[in-house]
Amino acid sequence: AGVESAAPGQVLLGRYELGGLLGRGASAKVYLAKDLLTGRDVAIKSFPNPRAGGGGGTGREGTIEREAAILRRLRHRHVVRLHEILATRKKVHFVLDLAAGGELFSLVDSSGRMTEDLARHYFRQLVSAVRYCHSRGVYHRDIKPENLLLDGAGDLKVADFGLGAVADGNLRHTMCGTPAYVAPEILSKQGYDPAKVDVWSCGVVLFVLAAGYLPFNDASLINMYRKIYAGRFRCPGWFSPELRHLLRHVLNPNPAARIDADGIMEHPWFRHGAAEDGGEL
Ligand code: ADP
Ligand code: MG
Repeated sequence: AGVESAAPGQVLLGRYELGGLLGRGASAKVYLAKDLLTGRDVAIKSFPNPRAGGGGGTGREGTIEREAAILRRLRHRHVVRLHEILATRKKVHFVLDLAAGGELFSLVDSSGRMTEDLARHYFRQLVSAVRYCHSRGVYHRDIKPENLLLDGAGDLKVADFGLGAVADGNLRHTMCGTPAYVAPEILSKQGYDPAKVDVWSCGVVLFVLAAGYLPFNDASLINMYRKIYAGRFRCPGWFSPELRHLLRHVLNPNPAARIDADGIMEHPWFRHGAAEDGGEL
């Protein structure tokens, strides 16, 4: 009871008129909404209020607060912005920038991929967002296609900091992420640097965009983990030598030897044609 209370036409706090469902993840549902004050469309990410219903203590309170605290620290043109938080008895709502263009992966062609030039265009935007987050002491830890959205102008927006972490100088031990995008050092459970983990998953995203399939994949999960652990992947024939070179450095199973976001930005494949690209760098 009360789990499914958001309804189209409902107005939150006299200001946000809810529209249809845009998407859902493990923790929340995301709705289109109109800000009746400004006339602008926004996205509203609604969580069941962990304070509602019997006793609480589910642990969700802390994670929603952490996601909010992270979003408040970030202001970047390729990161979804949090406008405000509304709490009702049953729900907690994040009012967010609308990513009206949907998911980045809607842009792949019929063979499931995009040209290397287009992949570079979005990879640049992704890396600039990730580098910014790291400079603010924030680690995303769940970079994958479903969390990479496009705004109305077609620019990339990194969304969903639900698994995000804030720097405290310690290594991390939480097992998190999505199997195909997870870095090998997370699998070995020895503590990891979350910045290196984000770089790894950016590499998996880049490979998928340009190849149309995952770099590490297998019908058996343990075999997939073995490939990740060994950093064993093969580039398709159409990848340029520069792209292969970059991917070898990004998908390096040794985190200490792996390239970081600054290093990626200096790589020739990343910089290729940068001057003609309107100062994206
Ligand atoms: P969860 O934390 O439950 O995974 P997400 O924040 O990833 O929730 O949102 C779930 C889905 O909702 C996303 O994969 C995306 O399709 C959609 N979505 C999330 N945020 C927005 C947004 N700001 N604009 C448009 N769609 C969004
Ligand atoms: Mg998500």
